[in-house]
Formats: sequence, structure tokens, C-alpha cells
Amino acid sequence: MFDKILIANRGEIACRVIKTARRLGIRTVAVHSEADAGARHVEMADEAVCIGPAPAAESYLRGERVLEVARRTGAQAIHPGYGFLSENAGFAEACAAAGVVFIGPPTEAIRVMGSKAESKRLMAGADVPLVPGYHGAAQDLDTLAAEAGRIGYPVLVKASAGGGGKGMRVVREASAFADAVAGAKREAKAAFGDDSVLLEKYLTRPRHVEIQVFADTHGRCVYLFERDCSLQRRHQKVIEEAPAPALPDEIRTRMGEAAVAAAQAVGYVGAGTVEFLYEDGGFYFIEMNTRLQVEHPVTEMITGLDLVEWQIRVAAGEPLPLAQDQLVRRGHAFEARLYAEDPQRDFLPAIGRLVHLRPPEEGPHVRVDTGVRQGDQVSMFYDPMIAKLIVWDETRDAALRRLRTALAAYEVVGVTTNVAFLGAIAAHPAFRAMEIDTGFIDRHRDTLVPPPAPVPAPGLVLAALSVLLARGAAAAHPSGDPHSPWRLVNGWRLNDDNHHDLRFQDGDSSRAVTLHFRPDGYEVELEGQAAVRVQRVRCEGGELSAVIDGVRVRATVVRQGYELTILSDGAVWRLTLDDPTARGADAEGGSGRLTAPMPGTVVRVLVGEGQAVERGTPLMLLEAMKMEHTITAPGRGTVTAVNYAAGDQVSEGVELLVLEIEEEG
Ligand code: ADP
Ligand code: ADP
Ligand code: MG
Repeated sequence: MFDKILIANRGEIACRVIKTARRLGIRTVAVHSEADAGARHVEMADEAVCIGPAPAAESYLRGERVLEVARRTGAQAIHPGYGFLSENAGFAEACAAAGVVFIGPPTEAIRVMGSKAESKRLMAGADVPLVPGYHGAAQDLDTLAAEAGRIGYPVLVKASAGGGGKGMRVVREASAFADAVAGAKREAKAAFGDDSVLLEKYLTRPRHVEIQVFADTHGRCVYLFERDCSLQRRHQKVIEEAPAPALPDEIRTRMGEAAVAAAQAVGYVGAGTVEFLYEDGGFYFIEMNTRLQVEHPVTEMITGLDLVEWQIRVAAGEPLPLAQDQLVRRGHAFEARLYAEDPQRDFLPAIGRLVHLRPPEEGPHVRVDTGVRQGDQVSMFYDPMIAKLIVWDETRDAALRRLRTALAAYEVVGVTTNVAFLGAIAAHPAFRAMEIDTGFIDRHRDTLVPPPAPVPAPGLVLAALSVLLARGAAAAHPSGDPHSPWRLVNGWRLNDDNHHDLRFQDGDSSRAVTLHFRPDGYEVELEGQAAVRVQRVRCEGGELSAVIDGVRVRATVVRQGYELTILSDGAVWRLTLDDPTARGADAEGGSGRLTAPMPGTVVRVLVGEGQAVERGTPLMLLEAMKMEHTITAPGRGTVTAVNYAAGDQVSEGVELLVLEIEEEG
């Protein structure tokens, strides 16, 4: 067994690996970028070494630097986590050459499975069922178009080297095929440095069911059951569960055995995942991921095993701890991926400081895997995942209830998150009824991402109370404890001021709130609504509560300048305190100025200065984190300035191009 390992990753997965290593008595070395000098994984590790500037290409992807750190610190093995160097056969080879153990499969398995096309050719030979398609070497458009016609539309164009949902295009008809291939190739070239594509029949209502496999160096290979990852957005997993609901045992066994056959066909060692699509009782191999998967915790929850411990033991040459017939599963687990992104803006990644962060309490039913703490920055350089929330219980229904409760308790302020979206999925009757397939989220989009609604009365009342409490704190008790509002409330009454007028900005509308002091609390008038009675206001441990029209409502109110965020039982309301002196600053219209909706990289500039454009003409392609975003003309006009070129990094809000608009869109 190793005495010391290096973790070549960051964020939650680095923390996750360190935790197991520590439990096994293995010392850990973290590597980090300059931006991550104060990160949680750095703090958790026994030793930490900076390997370069913030961009991953200059730090986390620099294999030779990672190896140099391993040499210097005496780490005997490297755990690559997922992403970054985890599926880089060249890095695994370099580790071997340097005499450091790569905690992962043999180089050849990484290489073969890293190509979706090559792996499908191999799987066909091992009698693993495949989605009908084309995975040949010829890449000219004529061949591809002819193959697409043979397969029959809709077809899916996939980057052979792809991952994370990138480089994938659904094509519904022949006329859209050439553009889709060009788009997939461009994305694939940029993301993976390899633009070869394959084609698959696009299944219309499949479930994504994947098998966790494990093999050791003694020739044994087992499967640790399956995970259902059908809840996806843009082909990326959002919520995963284990076991797959309503999967017949006979299919489960056949899938497990097919996955073991797939692993054995490449001489696999360590943890791997064989992904299948499951539709109408049939299952079809799509790819194998030769690493620890993001969603591995759901498997850990139902098997009671630690997969990172297994990885380390196998890498140290030990046999698998259990044989197939010793593996048992119990209960049901869900994982939800909590991201800094804005569902209201087509899930654009969000960045910012985690001003307030309070995860639900962990215990036998709730697990939180995270790499960030309150005060940390979510930057544009890395994956905007804040945490993975994992829950377990004896039955699917009970686990789903745990998921809803834990999501409602998850408090994040400072960056916009998908937590309400996750909560809406967890509460959806069709999800509970197991009516799931990869189209679930798109199909239910309107209920899962409802249009923004005005802040309801309790939100306004709690916001107003918190403002008054804060003012009272400043006026009555300049040096006193700001968390002790009772004294402060008395303070206002002594001021002989029997009502208070406040105004908030709520999205585009202005909301007036008037509080009248009453012997037992307040009467609150809200513009255009019946007055509400507020009693028993309490503020304890940062939580504000009040009985509003007879109902006790609790909330955490976080204030940043004029911005208030009210978190109450999974709802997140945002209001801006309308300070008359701050008004008028944003009167400017900005028509014709096209700004970056998110921080990212300019992929392509599609127009030149002086060019006439129509409404909807694509002007520029931006890419951030995982997605490409097209900037289009808001109306007919002429491009008068192009401020950035392909390859430039831009921050949110910068002016990308200027249009002289002749006709508004
Ligand atoms: P998994 O299959 O393990 O659940 P995904 O399919 O979500 O993981 O992602 C596949 C790969 O893409 C992983 O290696 C992961 O690290 C990487 N990845 C996932 N999300 C992002 C992201 N936002 N930015 C960059 N890479 C990502
Ligand atoms: P990645 O490497 O990005 O994970 P995958 O091949 O694993 O790519 O596919 C990711 C997701 O895309 C699948 O989980 C599924 O939802 C969808 N998908 C992939 N292939 C097909 C297909 N042939 N038909 C329908 N959906 C597909
Ligand atoms: Mg996949």
C-alpha cells in the first residue's frame, strides 16, 4: 500500500479522494493553480504545491509539472479524479515511465475507450449490443451524409473523442446535416483537439443506464450494479439515481454481464463505467468512461462501499475486496448536481463569491460532496459545480423525500444556482412516478423553469423586517449585538415613529411596503394587496421568523449592500432596497450595444465592420464552460465595431460589438 499519493485535480473530487486517503492512513499531496491557493482541497491535503496560473491548460493539465511535484514530494501514486488528466493516455504513460502509479486503468484501455468509434468497433467484436450507426474512419461529408441517410433520421452526430456532452448535434432532417457536422467538428476540435465524428441513430425516448465495473490486476472483474442518469439537460447529467427504477432484474444482470465483457475486452483494471441507452426493453452500448464517475456516490450509498478505497487498493496490486456474489445493494440513492448557473438565462454559468453558503446537515441519509466554503469564489476558469448532494433511504419514495427536504435546506447566496430547478424536478409527479427518459427535462421545461414571479407577501414582509432590524441596530445599539433584535424593536417604538415606508425593486417592478407598529407586532400594507398581520418576529442565529397571517414563516435573509436575498424553504427571492439616492443610474437604454452575457472565450467572429445584418443574423460565437452561445443581431442594421477576435477571453458585460440599428427587432 502507498504511504503518500498525489491528487491531480481540484474541487469536490480532490476533497473526496483526500478524505478516503486520510481514512486509510495515506498522506496526500494537492496540486493547485494560483487561483486556488486558498481552496478547500489545498487546505485539506497534507502538502500542497502550486503548479501554475489559473487557466487549466497552464496548471491542472500540465502533466509534466504534476509528475515533477510527485517526484519532489515522494508521492508514489497519482489519483487523477475525473476530467483534467483522468482520461489522458499520454499522462498515464508518462506516470509509468516516471515510476509513479497512475490510479486508473492501463494506458491501452484509456486510449481505446477514449475513442467512441474505436471502442464501438471493439464492442461489436465482443458481442456487446450497439446503437445502430456509423463509426468508420472515413470522415468526408459525402460518406457521412450517405451513412446518415442509411441509418435514417433523426441521427446524432457525436465527437468520437467527446465527453461532457460536447460536440454532439441532433439532426432531424438531411438539409441540416452538413451544418451540424461542421458545428460538431468545430466544437470537437476546440475541446479535444480531434474532430472525427461518428453517427448514431438518435433514440427518441431512451433512458441512460450505466454499469459501474471494477477489475483488479489478478484477472477478476465485477459490476457494482447500475445508475440511472436519464435526467439530463443538453446531454449532461443533472440528477442520478441507483438502482435504476423499474429495471427488470433479468435486464440488470444481462447489462452487468455485458459491461464486464466490455471491460475484459480491453484488459481493464480499476474503476470504469459502461454507459448504455435503454429503450423498449433493449439496451445499447454508447461509451465507456475509464475513470471514477461524477455520480459514483449513489453506488457507494446503495452498496456501502468506498469506490476510491477500491481504486487505491487495486492500484496497489491488491485483489478486489469482494466477489460478484458477495455484492449486495440496499435502499435507494439520488445525487443532484448543484451548479452556479442561471436557469432563467438558459442556464448560463454564473460566477461570483459565495457570500453565504449553508449546506443541509450531513448524516446517514444526507451527504454533501463539495470543494467550496462560504466566502470562496466561483470563477470562470473551472467547472461551476458547487456541490453534489447525495441522499439515501430504504425506498425510492423515501429517498426522493429526503432529496426534496435537503434541497430546500440548501442555502447559497452570491451566485445564482440551479437549486430551485433541482427542487422542481425532485417534486415533479412524473419523476416520482418514474416516467423518466432523457427527454424528461425538455418535456417538462415550463413547469421546471417557471417564468419569474413577483416576490410573494411573506418575502416582502421578511425583507422589510430585516431592513428595519438592521437600521434599528445601527441607530439604537451602535456597539451592541446586531443579532439581538428584541431590544432594537423596542428602540423604534421609543422613537415615537409608528410606521415605516420602504420600497424595493423586484425585477422590473417597484414594490412599496408600509409597516405600522401594533401592540402585538405589525400590520403591513403591500401596494395593491390586503394588509397582512405580522406577529412574533424572531431573529435567531441569522434566521428570521415571523407569524404572518397566522402562519409561521422562516427565512435566512442575506444582505449585500442594497441587495437582499431571502431564502425560505427552498424558495429564493431577490429584492433591491430602493434607495432614492441610487436611482437614475441605470436609465441608459443600450440599444445596439451587444454585451457578453457571461464570461468566456470568443470562438468565432462571424461578421466584419461595415457589414449589413438582418435581425437574428449570428454575429459572434462565445464559449463558456461547457457551452457555445451565439450572439445574434437584435434588429436590422450595420456593424460599426467588432471589439474582440477569436480566442479572446471576455468577462461578463463587456461590449463585444456595436450595431447601428435601422429597425428594431
Ligand atoms: P460523468 O460521466 O462522470 O457523470 P459527465 O458526463 O458529466 O461526468 O462529464 C464527463 C466529463 O466532462 C467528466 O470528465 C467531467 O469532468 C467533465 N465535465 C463535466 N462537467 C464539466 C464542465 N462544466 N466543464 C468541463 N468539464 C466538465
Ligand atoms: P458523452 O461522452 O458526452 O457523455 P455519450 O455518448 O455518453 O456522450 O452521450 C451522452 C448523452 O447523450 C446520453 O446519456 C444520452 O442522453 C444522449 N445520447 C447519446 N447517444 C444517443 C443516441 N444515440 N440517441 C439518443 N440519445 C443519445
Ligand atoms: Mg457519456
